[in-house]
Amino acid sequence: MSESVVQDLRSLLGEDAVLTEPEDLVRYEEGWRYGKGKALLVARPGTTTQVATTLATCAAAGVRVIPQGANTGLVGASTPDGTGRMVVLSLERLNRRLEIDPVNRTVKVDGGVLLSALNEALLPHGLMFPIDLGADPSMGGMIATNTGGTRLLKYGDVRHNLLGIEVVLADGTVIDGLNQLRKNNTGLDVKQLFVGTSGVFGVITGAILQVVPVPGQQATALVGCASGESALLLLRALERDLADVFTAFEVISAEALAPVFSHHSSVRNPYGAARPPAYTALVELASTLPQAALDLPGLLEERLGAILETEAGEGITDVFMGRAEDLWAIRHHVSESLRQEGRVLAFDISVPRSRMAEFTQAARTLLQAEYPFVRCCDFGHWGDGGTHLNLVWNEADALRPAAELVPELQARIYDLAVKAFEGSYSAEHGVGPHNQKFYEAYTPAAIRAISGAVKQHLDPKALLATTRLD
Ligand SMILES: Cc1cc2nc3c(=O)[nH]c(=O)nc-3n(C[C@H](O)[C@H](O)[C@H](O)COP(=O)(O)OP(=O)(O)OC[C@H]3O[C@@H](n4cnc5c(N)ncnc54)[C@H](O)[C@@H]3O)c2cc1C
Repeated sequence: MSESVVQDLRSLLGEDAVLTEPEDLVRYEEGWRYGKGKALLVARPGTTTQVATTLATCAAAGVRVIPQGANTGLVGASTPDGTGRMVVLSLERLNRRLEIDPVNRTVKVDGGVLLSALNEALLPHGLMFPIDLGADPSMGGMIATNTGGTRLLKYGDVRHNLLGIEVVLADGTVIDGLNQLRKNNTGLDVKQLFVGTSGVFGVITGAILQVVPVPGQQATALVGCASGESALLLLRALERDLADVFTAFEVISAEALAPVFSHHSSVRNPYGAARPPAYTALVELASTLPQAALDLPGLLEERLGAILETEAGEGITDVFMGRAEDLWAIRHHVSESLRQEGRVLAFDISVPRSRMAEFTQAARTLLQAEYPFVRCCDFGHWGDGGTHLNLVWNEADALRPAAELVPELQARIYDLAVKAFEGSYSAEHGVGPHNQKFYEAYTPAAIRAISGAVKQHLDPKALLATTRLD
């Protein structure tokens, strides 16, 4: 059966579109952070019709398929399982369609188009796709994970910027939902089934995205905050005064900040020899207005000065204006610097913004009481209620091996976030095998039943994906 699938796909897609040699498969078999399996083959169709042919061929043979974009996902959802019997359906060659409509301010893209290629094509039109992150994912992968990123505060996530979608179902049926309209209230909005559902219901081959004008100027500052509560007061004051131009509010704890400067001498430490305060907020403003019409750096400096005179200013310890590249470099070095500090267990949690300080404090209290050898190095998108709580420890100091500690810490932190703080165990990275057991623990039975019924309708033989949403 496997051999005939290989032959059939080769004759339908062409020799070079089907990879079977172990050395060719390796890069498709291991995820960025989690997920390592074995593929039967990698199919690389170049058109929607070829995707449909691939899926119909696999369905006829009862072969399971894992859709894969740029393989930058962080929950192990883009790689095959360990059976060696799954087909990796790579969308990397499905990247030819990229049609820009500057007046409609939309773009029609193939599912395999990379974010960098999209933005490169949009730039001459003065446009950009506003989801911004430290990786270069594909459009299909971004839709399947509903990517958030650092400017969600201003532009929303992928869902907010998606107008239409083209999907191929497990049996090869093509659904053309390439809607270009901003207003279209005519029944079921079918694209929503495929947003953030990890390729479980179908393979995204095309999309219509809404794009935005590129801001001509930015202003950035680092603001030291004595506590998490002070950071939230600052957020509120900034939104009140500057909502029109406020694009990012990232917060880094002192524990997450210090390793950036110890491991990267090229990154300037604005605090110098002084100990950083409990939290540092990276504040960004952006505008399409020219500086002659609006002096954004001047405005940011003036407003921060004014906030310092108010109650919100009481917890502010420092203000550093700086170049966007320099300040964002600090934020972008956090994850990788923490990995140099010891064992890292990363979380992608969200809670209501108003409870962020209380949540991170509760996590610290729990860890200090029960896991004193674990450092809580939290940082993230506080502007949209997201925190990448990273727990770091030296394995030599740990009371138990990581294999025991990791599930225990996950259970404790997720219970705290989901049950006590009405939060999410996966704010922006999706479910995937990495979060499967938490999906089962925290998803209400009624929602799982609906999701299971949709799966049964769209993919009754459960051939697509390794994630289960039933
Ligand atoms: C350094 C780094 C920083 C990151 N920062 C952020 C961040 O700030 N915010 C954030 O939200 N994420 C972030 N991520 C996560 C990641 O980039 C996103 O999840 C990304 O959108 C995944 O896209 P991809 O093309 O790499 O998909 P893949 O990793 O290939 O796949 C991810 C999931 O989507 C499915 N899939 C892929 N393509 C398709 C398709 N065409 N049709 C159907 N299903 C498909 C896969 O089966 C899998 O379930 C980061 C990752 C890295 C490595």
